[in-house]
Amino acid sequence: MNVDQLVRSSRDLLDLDLGPDLQRAFSIYADELLAWNENVNLTAITAPEAVEMRHFLDSLAVLRAVSLSSGMRVIDVGTGAGFPGLPLRLICPAIELTLLEATAKKTAFLEHIVKRLKLNNVRVLNARAEDAGQMPDQRERYDLVLARAVAQMPVLMEYLLPFCRVGGLCVALKGESAHAETRQAETALQLLGGHLEKIIPVELPQVPETHYLVLVKKVAATPPAYPRRAGMPTKRPL
Ligand code: SAM
Repeated sequence: MNVDQLVRSSRDLLDLDLGPDLQRAFSIYADELLAWNENVNLTAITAPEAVEMRHFLDSLAVLRAVSLSSGMRVIDVGTGAGFPGLPLRLICPAIELTLLEATAKKTAFLEHIVKRLKLNNVRVLNARAEDAGQMPDQRERYDLVLARAVAQMPVLMEYLLPFCRVGGLCVALKGESAHAETRQAETALQLLGGHLEKIIPVELPQVPETHYLVLVKKVAATPPAYPRRAGMPTKRPL
């Protein structure tokens, strides 16, 4: 698949220049995603332009909110087929990325694509956020915690904030409900040590609805009781 549209939009929207090597990497990623999608349910988005805009460009739009620096520790929670974490890693090879995903078939794809693209500093973790968030080597060790399309904000905050170091940032990629969901997450933010910093609207070409980046700063340590055991955050949102 060619990625000409991604190249143009990345330049226009994000001032990013995707050279030949990056174009090849995104092209391989798209081809592998669509090939695996025949057998494993990875994405409902299969039209080439939609993969470019709704998966790749939407992921890269995180750069409107944060700049990635060398050695930055980043985790993408409920990454599915790698969004938004992997496109960001392609653009910035110096980050240390963890891709966390509960479904083993999806982590099999992630292992495959990481190998196929010969990416170092990428760890694929097959676990639930509620379990990984209590692991000593995962808890409060990330500078940047990302998630797209995983859960509503009150639940999502219980998934994300335990991974974030105090002083670090969580970025949730949201749709039209961003403001309403964030208002509902006030109690969760308070309990978990988060503080809403801002909500940034993002307009993508060929995507009629506005997307939003919800930025939550970690201002205090998350109490050890959180995240609660698997399933509890969705059953009884904070
Ligand atoms: N972030 C990807 C994207 O935007 O394309 C995938 C979104 S998909 C709708 C939600 C993903 O989150 C699924 O792959 C699901 O397995 C994963 N997920 C949901 N709850 C999770 C949890 N508690 N821990 C880890 N992964 C979870």
